[in-house]
Amino acid sequence: MAISDPAGAAARLTVDLGAIVENWRRLGRLAPATAIGAAVKADAYGLGAAAVAPALARAGCRDFFVAHLEEGLVLRRLLPHPARIFVLHGVPAMAAAVMRQARLIPILNTPADIAHWQAEARRAGTPLDAGLHVDTGINRLGFPVAEFAALLAEPARLAGIAVRLAMSHLACSDEPAHPLNHLQLERFRGAAEHPALAGVPRSLANSGGLLLGPEFAFDVARPGLALYGVEPRAPGRGMLLPVLGLEADILQLRDVDAPDTVGYGASHPVRGRRRVATVAVGYADGYMRAAGNCGAGLIGATEVPIIGRISMDLMTLDVTDVPIEQCRPGSAVTLIGNGLPLHRVAAAMDTIPYEVMTRLGSRFARHYVGGEA
Ligand SMILES: *Cc1c(COP(=O)(O)O)cnc(C)c1O
Repeated sequence: MAISDPAGAAARLTVDLGAIVENWRRLGRLAPATAIGAAVKADAYGLGAAAVAPALARAGCRDFFVAHLEEGLVLRRLLPHPARIFVLHGVPAMAAAVMRQARLIPILNTPADIAHWQAEARRAGTPLDAGLHVDTGINRLGFPVAEFAALLAEPARLAGIAVRLAMSHLACSDEPAHPLNHLQLERFRGAAEHPALAGVPRSLANSGGLLLGPEFAFDVARPGLALYGVEPRAPGRGMLLPVLGLEADILQLRDVDAPDTVGYGASHPVRGRRRVATVAVGYADGYMRAAGNCGAGLIGATEVPIIGRISMDLMTLDVTDVPIEQCRPGSAVTLIGNGLPLHRVAAAMDTIPYEVMTRLGSRFARHYVGGEA
């Protein structure tokens, strides 16, 4: 139930499309020979693929990655050909025709994916584009290295399939010193060197992979998080522009004193005279409950600690130290952005920025800025 007039809403999520485009360009400067694509699965990490993907396409991004067929179908309505939409989870048995008609490019992970796509190519009487996924060590999706080599050794097994991408995915790209990174790099090089893949573009790097070094970038990169303003391994270093802002207005103020407590479970005993502000953001909005009694907001330059538990629709903050003129019903509290970076908010919730972003729910009024062509 997003409210269409952001100005009138008690909590507002701002997505800076210009910053996303600028981050995409900055990643491109890191790897000038690499086509920088965009991971826009999970509704562009909760930011709204309907706004994010066209903004990137207008800037020149050509390759988009989603997880599910359904996400690909939605995206196709927003991104006409020649944007390429890769579907990471392969070809569902009954959906190959739908996939072909929408000109989606499945990433084939299993022999069953290949069989479904080949059958569709036969029905269509034309070869169909696809990517091939070799699993070099995350042990999740894709062909194990030996199976991949066996597959390539028999060209008939790929008859009817025009391979447009050979990809793998890193397990530890946000930990540069982890030995698995180079092991996966070597395995991927070996797997993709097969003569059957001559001339096929290669793709290994997500955001973290791009920052591991130029040897990880290959022909196509698939960043998500970095486009959305979070630098995976050194957040806050300033290499990327922040994208996401969350602001909520104070609904009510209350002066309390010991032995009062604040919120459900009386989990915050007040020590002395304090002023409590209540804002309309809670765990039903994706503001995770783990931040109760440990996260913070900002009013102007003053940090205001979250006190008490996060409720379903509300949270409470200690605003005693805020100058009175900045702290009235209707005054805005920043919960993400403007000096309160997403990675810090995620740490207070005991999770990672990915999870925070994908949970920031549909109840906020969304405000897109900077999206001009
Ligand atoms: C989600 C995903 C990405 C993007 O990862 P980031 O860490 O957000 O850059 C890239 N490739 C695959 C296969 C993914 O699932």
